[in-house]
Amino acid sequence: MGLRTAEDYLDSIRARALRVFYRGERMTSVVDHPVAWPAANCLAEVYRAALAPETQAMMTADSPDTGERVNVSNLLWRSREDLIARVKWERLVGRMTGRGALRSPGLDAINALAAVTHRCDRARGTSYHERLLAFVQRVQREDLAVSGAMTDVRGDRSRRPATQADPDLFLRVVARERGGVVLRGAKAHQTSAVHCHEHVVLPMTCGADEGAWAIACAVPSDAPGITHIYARQPSDSRRAEGSPLDAGLPDFGGCESLMIFDDVFVPDERVFLCGEHEHTQELVRLFGSFHRFCYGGCKVGIADVVIGAASLVARANGVRDRSAVESKLTEMVHLNETMYACGLAAAMEGRPTDAGTWIPNIGLANVTKLNVTRFPFEIARLAADIAGGAMLTLPSQADLDHPELGPLVSKYMAGDPEVPAAERMALFRLLEFLTHGAGAVYFLHESLHGAGAPEAMKILLRREVPIAPFEDAARRLMAH
Ligand code: FE
Repeated sequence: MGLRTAEDYLDSIRARALRVFYRGERMTSVVDHPVAWPAANCLAEVYRAALAPETQAMMTADSPDTGERVNVSNLLWRSREDLIARVKWERLVGRMTGRGALRSPGLDAINALAAVTHRCDRARGTSYHERLLAFVQRVQREDLAVSGAMTDVRGDRSRRPATQADPDLFLRVVARERGGVVLRGAKAHQTSAVHCHEHVVLPMTCGADEGAWAIACAVPSDAPGITHIYARQPSDSRRAEGSPLDAGLPDFGGCESLMIFDDVFVPDERVFLCGEHEHTQELVRLFGSFHRFCYGGCKVGIADVVIGAASLVARANGVRDRSAVESKLTEMVHLNETMYACGLAAAMEGRPTDAGTWIPNIGLANVTKLNVTRFPFEIARLAADIAGGAMLTLPSQADLDHPELGPLVSKYMAGDPEVPAAERMALFRLLEFLTHGAGAVYFLHESLHGAGAPEAMKILLRREVPIAPFEDAARRLMAH
């Protein structure tokens, strides 16, 4: 069918009978509910960008799997250039939306599975790779939105899947039936899952006695037995107040959900790993690292917006030309371009896998994400420093629109006479959204914990970049 229009995408999600709850009530539409709309529109924007003349070259690619032009969100990477392009388009989307592409976990999942299923088939004589390719061809041709679901709820963090008090705390196979498997458990913090057509489910690392938890597969988002509990975000109810100024970033946003699998049947042709526990560690290593290097694009694009808003706020405050402001903005740019440089470096140092797909340099992907666990916080701090107190204390849109209060708000919220008070207030609210409101969920907390906590990066870094060769270098040079 080729590339979908944004409207077609939104209608296709409207047509799905999903079971989603928000604040204890069934969400009748994950597209048209005021709290969910900005996140749906953010995915729609990636569909729009794939067809818009000014962005289509970057947001689409020729797929060797279908011989057609496909959305980059569904591409299996087949070259170093594909990896470099990925960092660049992630930044573009972050900058366009103040959020991100939102289909990236699905993209990371299919690319991680491409390498791992190929390896598993050779070791075990399974035929997962072929099944995966058939699935990828379908999502490319139908231009489907795919989520990547790895993070289990994990219960007692000191315990492995098999020793948890409740075995469902890691998603598992509870029954093998003729022609398929039955899944039970839950995946946490599922970005955009309610707005995707397909979920690619991945296991976390499993031991030899944990074959039941070693399950990778694809599940349609409307499969019977799936329930989403839609997460709250700071100030999310401002979305429902009909005051775009108070929302801060009215058009786009993100959403997460707790995705519960209550005996969900998955047919064999959608299963990509089932019991082959020895391949789960590699799957986690690749999926995590793919998502980590992309943060050198998507979080950088959001930071572009934060830096731009801080600069405009300084202008509205009448102090844009002060050297102290210039110095802080330069520091923000330095931090941001450092994250970008790491993401690009991980892509440039990429290499091919035996499956013919390409992966970034794993060590550098983890360095990228370690910087991302810190720099957005410093960028947010510098933005708050530049903005001053009003960013979090200013009056509401209702006050600005009020016949009696409005003139007072305009009079006392004025800064530089060239900048209308309403514009200055909108800039404060945008910065508030990205650093303290719903945007902080992904600009700050996801930067810290998305794709794994900092310790997970350090464990991989210790493996990928051993110190021993450096000791050898020092030994060679020291006085003997
Ligand atoms: Fe993420």
